[in-house]
Amino acid sequence: MTDQNLKRFCILICNFDFCILIFGFLCGCQSGNLYKDNRVLMGTFVEVASEDKRAPEIVFNEIKRVESLLSKYKQGSGVSRLNKTGKIQASPETFYVIKKAKEFSEKSGGAFDITVGPLVDLWGFSQKKYRVPDEESIKEALKLVGSDKIILNSRNNVIELKIQGMKIDLGAIAKGYAIDCAVKKLRESGIKSCLINAGGQIYALGTKSGRPWNIALRNPYKKTFKEHFKLTDKAVATSGGYEQYFVKNNRHYSHILDPLTGYPAQTRIASVTVIAGDGLTADAVATALYVLGREKSTRLLNKYPGVTAKIYEEKDLR
Ligand code: AMP
Ligand code: MG
Repeated sequence: MTDQNLKRFCILICNFDFCILIFGFLCGCQSGNLYKDNRVLMGTFVEVASEDKRAPEIVFNEIKRVESLLSKYKQGSGVSRLNKTGKIQASPETFYVIKKAKEFSEKSGGAFDITVGPLVDLWGFSQKKYRVPDEESIKEALKLVGSDKIILNSRNNVIELKIQGMKIDLGAIAKGYAIDCAVKKLRESGIKSCLINAGGQIYALGTKSGRPWNIALRNPYKKTFKEHFKLTDKAVATSGGYEQYFVKNNRHYSHILDPLTGYPAQTRIASVTVIAGDGLTADAVATALYVLGREKSTRLLNKYPGVTAKIYEEKDLR
């Protein structure tokens, strides 16, 4: 795949109801019977469409709140304090997300692992200063990787990292959780219909004028739609190697790393789309499946009844 193609299809999921928003409006507006707005939050473009005027603001405020808890880039967030000091008394939410992340790590046999922080830094993905590290540095960084080295004390919400230098990165799960929180707030406010798209992490709340929301999965290699979903009260998450990557000596290095090897995952997968009842699960499982590859995907999916996945290798999309 050429760089040009990759860039052209940086938005993998295109929601039909959002197409109008993307091309027509860049500020809060009403289109048909939908109120639509967008904001850059959690390092991505967050779009909201709802029949209720209050929905976009509720969603943005909630995502912002979660970002301030979970982002490793936000000074003072629980995660950045943990990365700095190695031990914190976490907020109940931070504790919950890290506990869930540890479970995903166990269930995926280590394919999903939020302790990839040192590797993400080493490959230059945190600062967007990409490089191919030497093997020795990867070996050293791998000593700091492994969710078994996160100690959780549920009596007092204290989280401790066993080895100095360990770093947590919730990039593969935080957006899904943020969307879940936003949906909870919408429901509490009596809002029954809303579509949220946070950089490919989607939640379809209720219906649009009585009919399920229409989600289109775009082929990252062609200007066509690969798949359509009609969804109500479901989360969709997509992980793809084209989302963030660099090319060196004709090799493509993606931001999703294999915590067992220390190198970008190399499972021939172009993209994985997961549908689940909640955003956190969809987000984490999509990343895990990208690392595991098609052959090992069933084993993980069997552990999550009701969760489904569409896995595409490059050859399926060409
Ligand atoms: P996603 O786009 O949800 O698949 O998340 C990718 C992001 O999660 C990366 O940009 C890293 O910050 C982080 N990450 C990379 N590899 C892994 C992994 N194997 N497990 C958990 N998080 C990862
Ligand atoms: Mg993810």
